[in-house]
Amino acid sequence: MPVTSSDLYPVSRLAAVQEATAKSGLDALLLTPGPDLRYVSGYDAKPLERLTCLVVPASGEPFLMVPRLELPAAQASPASRLGLDFVAWDETDDPYGIASARLGRVAKVGLADRMWAMSSLRFREVMPETEQVLAGSVLRELRMRKSPAEVAALREAGQAIDSVHRRVPEFLRAGRTEREVGRDIAEAILAAGHEMVDFVIVASGPNAASPHHDVSDRAIQAGEPVVVDIGGQLHNGYCSDSTRTYSVGAPPADFAEYYEVLRRAQDAACAAVRPGVPCESIDAAARDLIAAAGYGDYFIHRTGHGIGVETHEEPYIVSGNAEPMEPGFAFSVEPGIYLPERHGARIEDIVVCTETGGERLNLTSRELVIV
Ligand code: ZN
Ligand code: ZN
Ligand code: ZN
Repeated sequence: MPVTSSDLYPVSRLAAVQEATAKSGLDALLLTPGPDLRYVSGYDAKPLERLTCLVVPASGEPFLMVPRLELPAAQASPASRLGLDFVAWDETDDPYGIASARLGRVAKVGLADRMWAMSSLRFREVMPETEQVLAGSVLRELRMRKSPAEVAALREAGQAIDSVHRRVPEFLRAGRTEREVGRDIAEAILAAGHEMVDFVIVASGPNAASPHHDVSDRAIQAGEPVVVDIGGQLHNGYCSDSTRTYSVGAPPADFAEYYEVLRRAQDAACAAVRPGVPCESIDAAARDLIAAAGYGDYFIHRTGHGIGVETHEEPYIVSGNAEPMEPGFAFSVEPGIYLPERHGARIEDIVVCTETGGERLNLTSRELVIV
């Protein structure tokens, strides 16, 4: 059964956010459109120059500032279940002044991590004495720990992107450009049930040595490895992200050698997941194995990132992050090996930490797929 929006965005969350805000010593959170607002209220508001902002005081009544022309959309959103006051403002009003007056004098507020600078500076103007910090300092504690419903949504997203990877061999052929292949993949991402395509990386030959290559007009050649890293967002807000490396015909011998190293490293990192281990130890599990095989200098990024209503969020699986894993943490495990000007490979699964270990949410084969 698909997970419902009231499971994903429970009404009880607002009280949990207020409690966490108070505990962090903040007086309020100011949440403009983006993942923080969506996580707290379920409202997928459009980011516009007109201010929409959920004001969540640590104690007292939360309210949603909303441009009058957006009011019907806000009322139709899951935010309408929260029993909030919707404060509609008109074109000639100053919504920042209204929000600040209604909130009252406060010492410290948390701004949505992705609030636009134009809004954060306007808030500073109307609340010159108020210290501004990131709302993420409060919300990370909640957003990192996925509820069973959130894990179910991520599993659904994982199945959707897996079905796209199963179709990639249909699209990959020598002579086609990365862009042509990327267009087919983007269509397949939507056809698989995503609401939005987040990104499509089709990196062939030497382009595969650039981890965040996009697509280009380069024609894929026979005998070339191709890194395909794709993701989208479901209607419910939760994201998918999975990488597989393909080869159009038999790959070069040196590539086949390090691909096997990479596959073992990705397995080792997934196997290291369990409650209590520091996030950085998952990175080390992959990195130590790659370094021991002599490819340490070619693994140039962290092993992974959390995922939820955003593709990249906490926890980051990176050296220096001693945060202990907890059941409900969901993140990518995506080591890569990149040989500049030659080729590269990456294998990426979303993994969720359970009471007993890591559960992969991507289940397509991790063997090199020769098409
Ligand atoms: Zn990435
Ligand atoms: Zn990815
Ligand atoms: Zn990723």
